[in-house]
Amino acid sequence: CHTTLANEQVIHGVCERCETKVERKNLKQWYFKTTDYADKLIKGLDTIDWPDRIKDAQRNWIGRSEGTQIEFAIDGHSDALTVFTTRPDTLFGVTFMVIAPEHPLVDVIISDTQSAAVSQYVNLAGKKTDVARMEEKEKTGVFTGTYAVNPATNEQIPIWVADYVLMGYGTGAIMAVPAHDERDFEFAHKYGLEIKQVIEGDVQANTVHSGTGKLINSGRFDGLEGDEAKKEITDWLKESELGQTHTQYRLRDWLISRQRYWGTPIPVIHCVGCGVVGVPETDLPVVLPLNQKIDSTGRSPLLDDSFVNVQCPHCKGDAKRETDTMDTFVDSSWYYLRYPNPHYTQGPIDHEAIKQWLPVSTYIGGPEHATMHLLYVRFIAHFLYENSYIPMAEPLPKFICNGLIMGPDGNKMSKSKGNVVDPDDYVSKYGADSVRLYMMFMGPYDDGGPWDPQRFEGAHRFVNKVYDLATAQYKTQELNTEIEADLEAKLHKLIKKVSEDIGEAHFNTAIAAFMEFTNTLTKVRQAGSVSADAWKQSITLLAVLLAPITPHLSEEIWATVGNTESVHLQAWPKYDEDKVKDDVVTIVIQVNGKLRGEFVATAGTDKGELEKLATDLNQKENFTKDAEIVKTIVVPNRLVNFVVK
Ligand SMILES: [Zn+2]
Ligand SMILES: [Zn+2]
Repeated sequence: CHTTLANEQVIHGVCERCETKVERKNLKQWYFKTTDYADKLIKGLDTIDWPDRIKDAQRNWIGRSEGTQIEFAIDGHSDALTVFTTRPDTLFGVTFMVIAPEHPLVDVIISDTQSAAVSQYVNLAGKKTDVARMEEKEKTGVFTGTYAVNPATNEQIPIWVADYVLMGYGTGAIMAVPAHDERDFEFAHKYGLEIKQVIEGDVQANTVHSGTGKLINSGRFDGLEGDEAKKEITDWLKESELGQTHTQYRLRDWLISRQRYWGTPIPVIHCVGCGVVGVPETDLPVVLPLNQKIDSTGRSPLLDDSFVNVQCPHCKGDAKRETDTMDTFVDSSWYYLRYPNPHYTQGPIDHEAIKQWLPVSTYIGGPEHATMHLLYVRFIAHFLYENSYIPMAEPLPKFICNGLIMGPDGNKMSKSKGNVVDPDDYVSKYGADSVRLYMMFMGPYDDGGPWDPQRFEGAHRFVNKVYDLATAQYKTQELNTEIEADLEAKLHKLIKKVSEDIGEAHFNTAIAAFMEFTNTLTKVRQAGSVSADAWKQSITLLAVLLAPITPHLSEEIWATVGNTESVHLQAWPKYDEDKVKDDVVTIVIQVNGKLRGEFVATAGTDKGELEKLATDLNQKENFTKDAEIVKTIVVPNRLVNFVVK
């Protein structure tokens, strides 16, 4: 394609949507200043219940690092080179500097003798992508012919241009410490540059000691270590007005301009006299023109006269609309704020509806969105919160990742591997309910895993089993009130388990509970041991509980037991707290807090009775080894602890 992309949308050097190779061009475009929110986005992560892998990915992407900004004077020039480093403790070991080919000072400092070589190198570098530059195994570079001055040693150090330094990150210049940095070492080695050790340790040929340690060859800072060394050298730089502490981020601003037709128009007007003018709020939203001609030249499809030509809102003179549209990730970063009132016409967000509905109780999505949608959506929320559009900065407090379903061979499904499973084939052969149930039963929701045809058969058999059981005739043969009470207790436990598990997206364990319950039902039916009413109650509730998992099967069972209104209109069943209590509990016996034995008691047995049971057992087993019991601590339903001398 011919559009522009944000950093996040360039995957291995190609467009994430169509795999066109990405080229660099200089364009004037619109950005959102995401970098202003870097710290807030990091801090906000501590307040939300999201998977750690997503949080870690966002922290790394924002890439906050604290360090020191240092100015290096340039010999024979008034300009200085500014670098950012997290290792000011290695300042005395800086033996050369490297600047990016795009660095604005390249043209200024280049010496006459090196001019041709540098120009050639810069031209070549311009044809490579950042990714290609970073991935190149062999570092290349060229000397500018000019020297900087190491502020610590006052020595002259050569300035090189090399494309392994990127203009987009940091200051586009680095101080090179070849004795203590792998990349700098490689470069120095290749071009025969000086290597000067400033941190104590055995440095053998071809190895780099890149950790911190005791400083050597560092003048009055010799002997200092790690953070103290960093602080002392930074303090000295501050006093000398040659440097300052600085926090740097990997995060870039969000490039939102796209040369696409199908996007939200950027509501901006360009006027020769007034410059860039925002479209007045009363004229919003700017609506896309219909019947637009689309070609593949890469020019903005909105260049059509009737759309572009417009009156300037300020001076009323002739002006032109912005023809770029927004990255569609802008839309997907706030779409959910329309859901509470999609018909609202007084603005983008209905505050009253938002107040009533936010926060989103659970947000579900794929982990591949970690540093794109999931970061954009948080950024926009923070912005809207600060500008009082929404009542909270993190309206998505809980996020669950869905897992990825693999082919039967355990590999990611792909046509070339021939391992694609089309769920539609299964739906037409086995029915949608079996497919739904199988997918929920495969494993933990966030794990995914391979599609297993044999386990699918098992899931399908279960669906049939439930149908047969629920629609079969039931006849009481020998009523057993104990079994009937037990069935009722199991039913309430099922309601509890399924309600909790579905709430946590633990569908597989909910289904396992259904399987256990139907085993009970099978036995009950064979023996005919409960009343017809108790049986009907079980089947009825089973239909309601299964409705989210097997909606068609549930509806069928629901109708078969004589209901006319849809099962999907029924209230979710509630369980009786008394009936889900476990009948028996295991009580642990401790002596001076150490586990010595256990026994089983009815749940809720009082303290006195538990102490008596434990004492009786102790007389038999002699847990206390005839020592004098000075105190007995009883925790109902849990333990009896004998304290002995
Ligand atoms: Zn593309
Ligand atoms: Zn104007």
